[in-house]
Amino acid sequence: MTEASEKKVALVTGAGRGIGKAIAESLAKAGHHVICVSRSESSCGAAAESILSDGGSAESRAVDVADRAAIEAASEAFIEAHGTVDILVNCAGITRDGLLFRMSDADWDDVIATNLSSVFAWSKYLARPMTRKRWGRIINISSVIGLMGNAGQANYAATKAGIHGLTKSLAKEFAARNVTVNAVAPGFIATDMTAELNEQQQEAIVGMIPLKRMGAPSDIAAITRFLASEDAGFITGQVFTVDGGMVM
Ligand code: NAP
Repeated sequence: MTEASEKKVALVTGAGRGIGKAIAESLAKAGHHVICVSRSESSCGAAAESILSDGGSAESRAVDVADRAAIEAASEAFIEAHGTVDILVNCAGITRDGLLFRMSDADWDDVIATNLSSVFAWSKYLARPMTRKRWGRIINISSVIGLMGNAGQANYAATKAGIHGLTKSLAKEFAARNVTVNAVAPGFIATDMTAELNEQQQEAIVGMIPLKRMGAPSDIAAITRFLASEDAGFITGQVFTVDGGMVM
């Protein structure tokens, strides 16, 4: 695979742990400068430190992605420092599960703000320099739950399905400027998010996966790195399911 011919600036949200951290490390290994963003400075700082100690190039900034003004301020600072952000990976996400009658307004609003409105805001502030440069990659991490729905996850499923519509619309808006926009829909991946499930729930999940295992964060990092590369330049507006064959 040919990686980007010059060193690019990549921003990964949710880079402090799990899937986002694996994506940040993988993009750094591809030779890019990686801006690690998460909620707490301790987690994104540790992710950037680990890239630096591996010989890569990285920096970190704690940004609450549910806070649109904070996204605007951070975006301005990154553009001022680097001129552009070439690769944007929207990976930060949360769950606040509950059946509809028991789902509080706050649980609905928090998930929409963190998982979906954040993708709108980062794209709005960072796509402009990409379109000017006529090169850019936006990769949104959604979920198979956005394709299938799930009882008890109406808020989460709505955000992930929303990401699919947003991805396809932005792909059409930016295609003429050589900025591609794609989504990766992971199935069950072993991270802190799925560690919340009890052993019985985890066994039931593995039973539904034809490849008979949960995915690893590196499985999602691999396709994200490809979508960020020059080789993926003719792919836009797509949703790639990476789930061990669960949704066919
Ligand atoms: P995780 O281990 O829980 O990590 C979530 C990351 O998002 C953390 O770095 C966290 O920051 C960051 N984050 C959460 N809320 C934030 C906020 N308001 N502002 C800034 N950063 C915030 O999650 P994961 O399992 O790696 O999941 C990553 C993405 O993949 C999510 O969008 C999730 O929906 C999606 N996904 C996961 C699975 C799975 O099975 N794990 C399946 C399908 C899709 P801190 O480190 O500072 O807390």
